Amino acid sequence: MLVSEVMLQQTQAGRVVEPWRRFLETLPTPDACAKVPRSTVIELWAGLGYNRRAGYLQDAARAIVDEFDGLVPREPAALRQLPGVGHYSANAVASFAFGAPVGVLDTNVGRILARAIANRPLGRAEAQGLADDLARGTNSAAHNQAMLDLGAQFCTATPRCETCPVARRCRWRTEGGVDPASRSAAVSVRQSAFAGSDRQVRGRIVAALRQGPAPLEAVVARLSETPERVERLVASLVVDGLVEHRGDAVRLVGDPRVRIG
Ligand code: SF4
Repeated sequence: MLVSEVMLQQTQAGRVVEPWRRFLETLPTPDACAKVPRSTVIELWAGLGYNRRAGYLQDAARAIVDEFDGLVPREPAALRQLPGVGHYSANAVASFAFGAPVGVLDTNVGRILARAIANRPLGRAEAQGLADDLARGTNSAAHNQAMLDLGAQFCTATPRCETCPVARRCRWRTEGGVDPASRSAAVSVRQSAFAGSDRQVRGRIVAALRQGPAPLEAVVARLSETPERVERLVASLVVDGLVEHRGDAVRLVGDPRVRIG
């Protein structure tokens, strides 16, 4: 559950299924994930993007081994101590894996709460409090999954109120007014364009290094980007703990195929 929630951050479920299977077949426990070189985790992350999450997940596995005897903690507060695990992921793992009575609050659920329950924009703490109140006393995993599905299939940015199963109990639908969802804290705004972005080029550098360590010049040539841009983005990947750059050579951190420096 923890692996899937980290993979699902800002990534569609359909893209996660295969990498999730591959990851758990290779690294089925926190202990296994903690022990391998960083490069192995990054290689298993192929197809998912936002490679920094691979590093966070391994750091979380190492913290679980060092501080929680190798067992994923059950409490949201303890889960939030793990690298890369924020409020949403902690509550999702606590609810879906352990049945904790907490609400999961993502952009889909944020829309439902603002529209159907409050009919006004909500701050993050208020929205989380409402989500927790609704989950309490329920089978929280089933409740939270239903909320996520309702938000994904009906209460979308352009809502499908005509066929929505909770339309008769929805305050915005029955009272009217300006859509409160777009001004609510938990509701995300559209992301900036991916094509040509630094994020895309960082992903292409990591993809190139999955083939193996290489001279920086070769990476520049493969990407058809300016040397300055590639050097700057390699430096940012070094800062993020994903890439090593010594002398002329670059590689994924710990990649055993070639020793560099
Ligand atoms: S009736 Fe419309 S606004 Fe209300 S919860 Fe359903 S889809 Fe969302």
